[in-house]
Amino acid sequence: MIIAMMEEATEEQIVAVVDAMTEAGVNVHLTTGASQVILAGVGPTAEVDLRKFELLPGVLYVHRITVPYKLAGRAFRSEGTVVEFANGATIGGEKVAVIAGPCAIENEEQIHTIAKRVKAVGAGFLRGGAFKPRSSPYAFQGLGIPGLKLMHEAAQENGLVTVTEVMEIAQIEPMLPYTGCFQVGARNMQNFNLLRELGQVRKPVLLKRGIAATIEELLLSSEYIMSGGNYEVILCERGIRTYETATRNTMDIAAIPVLKKLSHLPVAGDPSHGTGRRDMVPAMAKAAVAAGADALLIEIHPNADKAVSDAAQTLFLDQFEKLVAELRLLAEAVGRTL
Ligand code: PEP
Ligand code: MN
Repeated sequence: MIIAMMEEATEEQIVAVVDAMTEAGVNVHLTTGASQVILAGVGPTAEVDLRKFELLPGVLYVHRITVPYKLAGRAFRSEGTVVEFANGATIGGEKVAVIAGPCAIENEEQIHTIAKRVKAVGAGFLRGGAFKPRSSPYAFQGLGIPGLKLMHEAAQENGLVTVTEVMEIAQIEPMLPYTGCFQVGARNMQNFNLLRELGQVRKPVLLKRGIAATIEELLLSSEYIMSGGNYEVILCERGIRTYETATRNTMDIAAIPVLKKLSHLPVAGDPSHGTGRRDMVPAMAKAAVAAGADALLIEIHPNADKAVSDAAQTLFLDQFEKLVAELRLLAEAVGRTL
């Protein structure tokens, strides 16, 4: 950390700041410049609340140099993390993974029809919500474990990995036999008790960015999972809430290269929730791949406009097939496969 003192800071004020830094376990290196004193602090600054120093008399500004997340940061593993799944599929590395399926599992026929098409395009992951975090308590809440069983069967038949949302700690255990990858939804990104518990599980976690979360907050949430010993975390940009109303959310494409730079964890893009509109999903899916995404999360349904949840942003199966073909060409252009 760096603390720049004001030009008019007194000797007593400087000593008080040095004392406060020392008390916090930080080693202080003092430099006297032409007009002001600079205090460089080395030590456990990640845990220190910088405002404590900002408030001290004579302090001009305080700057943190180390990042507050240790395990999620690039420094922990300079090469990117590749998450491997039982069916041989991977997320991270050269190949861009496609995770596709309905917003919600509705019935056996629906999920089997979708699973076949996901397999047919060469994708490795079947998504589908059994526990749905709906904005309204009166909207369809999901089929629960019986629905998850249906998706698990459909995935098994087609050699796919299931990706499904967990909303609370009590669901983890019953979900385990049917879940290949736990999804933590935007609304639960800062459910720290749930994140800690997922740190104890030995299954990958796809962690979605909260609608009002900064990139640093997303990384700190991944740190909750990793600090429990589960290093298989995939970060997901799914759009944030801004003043713009033309799309359901504002898909922060720039978050993808930022996350790739700051973290070794694989990054997924979700153009379905990122736009909320079927007609815009292909463009943003391509943008995500061009920006360096390691995976895409796409909502698809045989009767997309009749889907019980998120119909407007759900692609028909033919649209999905066409998009995957286009994405393959694009992936090649950016040095990836898909
Ligand atoms: C979903 O993937 O269907 C979902 C509910 O996503 P989010 O948490 O990003 O809203
Ligand atoms: Mn959805």
